[in-house]
Amino acid sequence: MNLEALSDINRNNPEILEQSAKENVADPEKVKGIALFAADNGYDSLSANQKYHFDKSIRALIENVQCHGYTHEFDETPGNCEAILNDDDLLECYQNDVFYCESCQAQSADDAHSKAKFFED
Ligand SMILES: [Zn+2]
Repeated sequence: MNLEALSDINRNNPEILEQSAKENVADPEKVKGIALFAADNGYDSLSANQKYHFDKSIRALIENVQCHGYTHEFDETPGNCEAILNDDDLLECYQNDVFYCESCQAQSADDAHSKAKFFED
């Protein structure tokens, strides 16, 4: 669980929390409040009821997040990657809004590189 990433979501992407709350039929305002409190005070400070909402609507956003999969620019089908993102990289993922595992990241960098080369020639 990455509470730093949660702080970043609280500050910059609260709509992710709202979305997740709605998907879990929870009150978005309540979930956002719990996210704020948990980011500052830690999961253990939550009440049983708050933990319930945290586990349902928040945990999946900051723990065992799946790679979004790299899709080549000209590919019709989106890339499918089962890799779980490294907890330490999660904050950066949210900051850059890019959710790639190492291998997809390398693939993406590779393509960007060959594209840059193509325009150089
Ligand atoms: Zn991946």
